[in-house]
Amino acid sequence: MLAQRLNATLQSLENVAKGDDRPTPRLLAVSKTQTATAVAALAAAGQRCFGENYVQEAQTKIAALAELELEWHLIGHLQSNKAEPAADLFDWVQTVDRVKLVAALARFRPPRRPPLNVLVQVNIDDEASKHGCAPEQVAELAAAIDREPRLTLRGLMAIPTPHPDLELRRPAYRSMAVLFRTLAARHGSMDTLSMGMSDDYALAIAEGATMVRIGTALFGPRSRE
Ligand SMILES: *Cc1c(COP(=O)(O)O)cnc(C)c1O
Repeated sequence: MLAQRLNATLQSLENVAKGDDRPTPRLLAVSKTQTATAVAALAAAGQRCFGENYVQEAQTKIAALAELELEWHLIGHLQSNKAEPAADLFDWVQTVDRVKLVAALARFRPPRRPPLNVLVQVNIDDEASKHGCAPEQVAELAAAIDREPRLTLRGLMAIPTPHPDLELRRPAYRSMAVLFRTLAARHGSMDTLSMGMSDDYALAIAEGATMVRIGTALFGPRSRE
């Protein structure tokens, strides 16, 4: 069942990308609230990259599945007091949105691990929601990450306002792509624009997403958030 959903999703990503004349994006399987058993089943079907929202929940799952050598991404808001465990647990942190967090992640990334891959989370709709940096602050944050040898700046991530009318999400995705292109011209290590979820990945791909974060379409509905 999970293998079928995975294959259907991968096929869909490929078809959408081809239709839009875009490269096929990477699939990040969002495994928040899912069991380690479900993650292992998806891994057995070939999926390598998984996204988690909470450090504590991820800790247990990552430990249980250590021998599978999966790639783990943090996609939930990171509090500064969790920067130390996060800097060791994850291969990517997609939610860096302030300079203080840059310094903490760099300081706590263990020397035995390769540099931590980092995305700047952008509050592209300028929502009252406090997560993500303002578009005007992205350049400064990107430069700060680039200065840290223990971090690698890979790109940008956004969670636009979930307008029920998908067309209303397009301007946010388009603005992200512009921001991404502008900064990537300055930072050669930037290759990732993470945007699009189960209900709107086609739109995100059309606007230039290189990584989509998909939970529900792979695992089915979550019982809790
Ligand atoms: C939960 C979550 C997703 C996946 O959402 P689905 O609608 O289940 O595909 C993607 N990105 C972030 C940041 C999330 O928290």
